[in-house]
Amino acid sequence: MNCLREMEGKENLLFIKKIMNKPSRCLCVPGPVIVGAGPSGLAVAACLKEKGVPSVILERSSCLASLWQLKTYDRLCLHLPKQFCELPLMGFPTEFPAYPTKDQFVGYFEEYAKKFDIRPQYNETVSHAEYDRVLGFWRVRTVGPKGEETEYVCRWLVVATGENAEAVVPEIEGMGEFGGDMRHTSLYKNGEKYRGKKVLVVGCGNSGMEVCLDLCNYNAKPSLVVKDKVHVLPREMLGSSTFGLSMCLLKWLPMRLVDQFLLTVSRFMLGDTARLGLDRPHLGPLQLKKLHGKTPVLDVGTLAKIRSGDVKICPGIKRLKDYTVEFVNGRTEKFDAIILATGYRSNVASWLKGGDLFSEEDGFPKGTSPNGWKGESGLYSVGFTKRGILGASMDAKRVAEDIERCWVAESKHTPWSLLSHSRRNHPRNFWFSKCVQRCFALRELHAIFEEVVGVKSQSRV
Ligand SMILES: Cc1cc2nc3c(=O)[nH]c(=O)nc-3n(C[C@H](O)[C@H](O)[C@H](O)COP(=O)(O)OP(=O)(O)OC[C@H]3O[C@@H](n4cnc5c(N)ncnc54)[C@H](O)[C@@H]3O)c2cc1C
Repeated sequence: MNCLREMEGKENLLFIKKIMNKPSRCLCVPGPVIVGAGPSGLAVAACLKEKGVPSVILERSSCLASLWQLKTYDRLCLHLPKQFCELPLMGFPTEFPAYPTKDQFVGYFEEYAKKFDIRPQYNETVSHAEYDRVLGFWRVRTVGPKGEETEYVCRWLVVATGENAEAVVPEIEGMGEFGGDMRHTSLYKNGEKYRGKKVLVVGCGNSGMEVCLDLCNYNAKPSLVVKDKVHVLPREMLGSSTFGLSMCLLKWLPMRLVDQFLLTVSRFMLGDTARLGLDRPHLGPLQLKKLHGKTPVLDVGTLAKIRSGDVKICPGIKRLKDYTVEFVNGRTEKFDAIILATGYRSNVASWLKGGDLFSEEDGFPKGTSPNGWKGESGLYSVGFTKRGILGASMDAKRVAEDIERCWVAESKHTPWSLLSHSRRNHPRNFWFSKCVQRCFALRELHAIFEEVVGVKSQSRV
């Protein structure tokens, strides 16, 4: 009889969950929820941990730093010198080279996570996050690999899904008719399968240029589509990294002058890139980066291959046919494969609803205010300033400091502050005090108590 009553209770509960549009699990998080276990997410979790603030990281893939582990090519080394790519609170091992390999970089992230005991919740894709004004909490909904839904309820939400969350694949006329291998650089590992083949690489940013070099090293025959003007700079100049030198000069000189300096030295070292088919934009490299977020290419050897004719430069594509590419100048040429080095985009607009921080158009924080990392109602962003890991680390420190301030202030005003530190971090205690403090609507109280305190389903029906 009891068993039947319990079943009946469960059925009723399912029905109620359905009509309340509730996911199958609802979890309450005492500290912030961080979306994304890339360098930005790890950095903010570590800074919070150091301040005694617990957090939960939700990550859609099955590993940390998934961009680096799963979506980059084998030969990748850091584009910038290691001192500009460290996360807060832990430097690189001294034996690492100036430009660590991708495997070394990933190893560093794993050590970092171990040191700060960061354990992301893997295979949880955030599909919806919205601030509940009645509750005064964020509701973050995730979907697991089998479609199972979970809702996390939290006071602070940190968006760390990155500027490179989704591959950008352009619409090219006749794409379906090409017939040959066509893939985005996020799926390119090395040139092994392209040996002896004619490959068209579309896009002349850092990835496109480096993939061409890799293809040459595997005896493939790459051509590079260059539609836009581009600044190519040597990776090092005057015995120092170009990036480091620019940062140093910017402390003393205006950006315009530093740009002129960079272009003069580049011309001396690389020659006139326009003669190779790579016209320079009107704005200098640093100004272009600042105003339009466009990163200059740091040459790692591709320019020499273009000069020697091993990499050919082509104009934009008009349309594709059976293993054939027609260019905008009317010329046609046969290719075995196409690699799209067409970049990435943010995915925040697809899952974050409301909030003042992110643009619904491009999924980046709006404007260039100094507080671009902080929105209203406990919403934060880390890693969206187009300044690589250096920018992400700076964001992470600011965000952690700000959350700590609120965390301390809130804990002073709740019965929860009476609990010892370890007990305070226990979700059950947190929710107990929160419930007292905020006097939730009855419906919400039931839902949360059921999950956290373990109230039996029958008692709700
Ligand atoms: C080829 C290449 C080379 C680069 N070299 C450098 C360099 O040398 N130096 C440098 O500073 N920067 C470099 N960058 C830029 C680099 O991407 C960033 O600096 C760094 O990876 C940003 O970290 P992030 O955590 O902000 O984003 P990511 O590394 O992209 O991590 C974001 C994480 O969020 C997860 N995620 C996304 N959406 C969701 C969702 N809805 N739900 C749950 N999880 C989600 C992703 O799976 C990912 O794990 C390079 C980028 C590329 C592509």
